[in-house]
Amino acid sequence: MKRITVLGSTGSIGRSTLDVVSAFPDRFGVFGLTAGNNTGLLLAQIKKFSPKFVAVPEKAACELLRKELRGLQTEILCGIEGINTLAGMPEAEVVISAIVGGAGLLPTLSAVKAGKTVGIANKETLVMAGDIVISEAKRSGAVLIPVDSEHSAVFQCLGSYEKRSVRKLVLTASGGPFEGKKKNELEAVTLEDALKHPNWSMGRKITIDSATLMNKGLEVIEAHHLFAFPPDKVDVLIHPQSIIHSMVEFADGTFIAQLSRPDMKAPIAYAMSYPERLDNVITQIGWETLQPLTFRKPDTDTFPCLGLAYDALGEGGTMPAVLNAANEVAVQAFLDRGIGFMEIPAIIKKVMDAHKVKPASDLDGIMEADAWARKNAAKEIES
Ligand code: NAD
Ligand code: MG
Repeated sequence: MKRITVLGSTGSIGRSTLDVVSAFPDRFGVFGLTAGNNTGLLLAQIKKFSPKFVAVPEKAACELLRKELRGLQTEILCGIEGINTLAGMPEAEVVISAIVGGAGLLPTLSAVKAGKTVGIANKETLVMAGDIVISEAKRSGAVLIPVDSEHSAVFQCLGSYEKRSVRKLVLTASGGPFEGKKKNELEAVTLEDALKHPNWSMGRKITIDSATLMNKGLEVIEAHHLFAFPPDKVDVLIHPQSIIHSMVEFADGTFIAQLSRPDMKAPIAYAMSYPERLDNVITQIGWETLQPLTFRKPDTDTFPCLGLAYDALGEGGTMPAVLNAANEVAVQAFLDRGIGFMEIPAIIKKVMDAHKVKPASDLDGIMEADAWARKNAAKEIES
């Protein structure tokens, strides 16, 4: 029985992870849960899965859980420190990193430093501090298994092929709800329009990132760190049906692609059971009724966020952390109806233009750049 810790258990990925645990009760048990909101759902999860430890950032939620769970086996840890401690506890074999945004960095790093198998959904961690995370994993022996569907696909397609036989990684993108639209049509789109993703049901932040194509930009940076490929060897291809989750192009002109219905339970279960594959995790593709699979180049003029992410990766150092932080603040402002959709890339670009890049060799420097970018993005929103 593999003991699993889920960071961000009340979110979209967290809930799907617990669905996989429920579907395979002989294989998986829950060791730890953490969540930043939705204490009611967390409480229900605790009662169902009886984790040994739970950690929550807010004191009020902590006290409420302690009161509700008096007499039960579960111990409640409080604060960010509690989350970091739980993420690194020796008893869990697999940690699924599914907190959204920069808040996931320290807990994920704690699991990596403890040498766990880490299923990484929280791409922002790798965008902010990819070099540090990868070098800590090498040091501790942690195994990083991607949960992001594109990276899980690349991981599976790469298999044991020699790196020199690989020409490119090709990340596919659905294009989001505004695929095919032009810039002037995007000026007036509403929050409701942007939250209607055609193929995937996800948390609100990543759903907006998918609509701006920033999600794909963050994924290019994520792929660069996970697979050690330079930016010019990571391509993006719009594929609106989301059946091919990504592919690898080889030196001989051939490709290997990974296909399934779009269901995050597939990459989540793969990360949990790796190197094994579980039986019947998701329903099969209905080949006879499948729509034609189509592909086109992304329109970076209409969706500038993808280009900004390539720029940030090219500049390196603290710039990807600044891109990520400015994006988080701008997306939150859009979710709060404070700015329009096309102001998201404009704000990120202004913050990036004002940033003086430093090497991203230590965590303090990255956190400083992150805080600087958040402050400056907030100022841009106010002005
Ligand atoms: P979500 O918003 O649905 O859930 C986020 C989880 O993080 C919740 O449990 C929330 O309580 C917790 N959280 C938020 N802020 C926190 C904080 N400050 N401290 C502690 N916990 C906090 O998000 P999601 O869609 O599940 O995405 C999670 C991560 O996985 C993101 O990085 C996203 O990019 C990535 N991802 C998601 C999908 C998907 O299908 N949803 C696919 C690929 C990658
Ligand atoms: Mg993805």
